[in-house]
Amino acid sequence: METEGEVAGVLAHEIVHVVGRHSSEQIAKTQLTQGLAGAAAAVLYDPENPGSAGAAQLAAVVGQMVTMKYGRDDELQADQVGVRIMADAGYDPRSMGTVMQKLGEANQGSSAPEFMSTHPNSENRVEQINQAIAEEFPNGVPEGLIH
Ligand SMILES: [Zn+2]
Repeated sequence: METEGEVAGVLAHEIVHVVGRHSSEQIAKTQLTQGLAGAAAAVLYDPENPGSAGAAQLAAVVGQMVTMKYGRDDELQADQVGVRIMADAGYDPRSMGTVMQKLGEANQGSSAPEFMSTHPNSENRVEQINQAIAEEFPNGVPEGLIH
């Protein structure tokens, strides 16, 4: 990932899995919820240095998230709702397509990211994301969002 928007894209996608209760792995979900709560607490805890501890915790949570497997419909929903969440949070939803494209390309190489073993790219995934963006923003993506 090369931009903040791309990180937001993966996070938004994973958040939809959690909020949509896509996982049937109850134990993993509980750990994930605790992790998220802990991460939020860590971010709020030290106002003098909000980045350090919180970022580390968040990284661990995201690490947990990307190892969880979901079904094809869940993946589609995570992308579709994810683009809405991204825009609501001030990020350009097109960065979701960019990061999924990059992850798909990286998957061709020998050191494939773990994300791709649990999130296999359908051939038309980026196309589906673009379609979701077009449906969500029929008048075009708002300007000034973070890429
Ligand atoms: Zn997913």
